[in-house]
Amino acid sequence: MSNKYADELWLGTLGKGEVRWVAIGMTNTVEEAANRHQTTPVATAALGRLMGASLLLASSMKAEEAITLRLLGDGPLGGVVAVGNARGEVRGYVHEPQVNLPLNEKGKLDVAGAVGAGEFCVSRSLSNGESYTGMVPIVSGEIADDLVHYLHTSEQVRSAALLGVLVERDLHVAGAAGMLFQLLPGASEESIQMLENRLSQIQGISPIAVDSDSMEDLVRNIMGDMEYRVLEKRPVGFCCTCSKERVSETLISVGKEGFKDLLEDQHAELICHFCNEHYNFDEADLRELYQQAK
Ligand SMILES: [Zn+2]
Repeated sequence: MSNKYADELWLGTLGKGEVRWVAIGMTNTVEEAANRHQTTPVATAALGRLMGASLLLASSMKAEEAITLRLLGDGPLGGVVAVGNARGEVRGYVHEPQVNLPLNEKGKLDVAGAVGAGEFCVSRSLSNGESYTGMVPIVSGEIADDLVHYLHTSEQVRSAALLGVLVERDLHVAGAAGMLFQLLPGASEESIQMLENRLSQIQGISPIAVDSDSMEDLVRNIMGDMEYRVLEKRPVGFCCTCSKERVSETLISVGKEGFKDLLEDQHAELICHFCNEHYNFDEADLRELYQQAK
């Protein structure tokens, strides 16, 4: 039972254009994150949902800008981080990928329990080099509600969000998707009512992601009877910014003094938090970097 159509982000409007929506199919992206970080199902769900939230928020930004989301909760996950941009590139990690928790009272993965109470932190890195960080308390820990709460309190935007990741017993990701509806100024009561009615019928987005065979199918299954327009489609994928060069710069920055221990060990391994890529430096590499260090 595989429905691995390519991950995409679609943008559009509802009704007479007073509601903006963003939909993402991200099954492959979340599966890649789970494979890279060897996450348990509840960690996969938390990470996947936060990665989705970062893509939903970043969708209205410029291509070279990025959004970083941090869930700084006191639960056993110890924090979740995701960075997304408007090009559909996303990366992320959880501090404790091996966390296992019993299912919650609804028989679902207990994402809220794994996240715990604390702060939800949203940082926007703008193209002019500035960055803005907003922080709100975690209100649910299920992530979609936290996203809506953040948009309402920090950006005065009324919205509704769905984020879901369905993990099979064998740990593979059967379906992952996200959806954000934002009410634009002047949205009519009629449109709001229509949206509320539809959302009350949806039990969760992950079963829809599993049952859909294409991105088109996914969007149609979420929208139901609502009339919608698709304005744009973009690819989505797991993408990290690390490289051996960048990691080398980190090593060089420790300075000649700090380098001595590394040279004695004759080997160094650095691991990227975001994608779990391992970078190895042998003695020859280290000698070369030592020359560049100050
Ligand atoms: Zn990386």
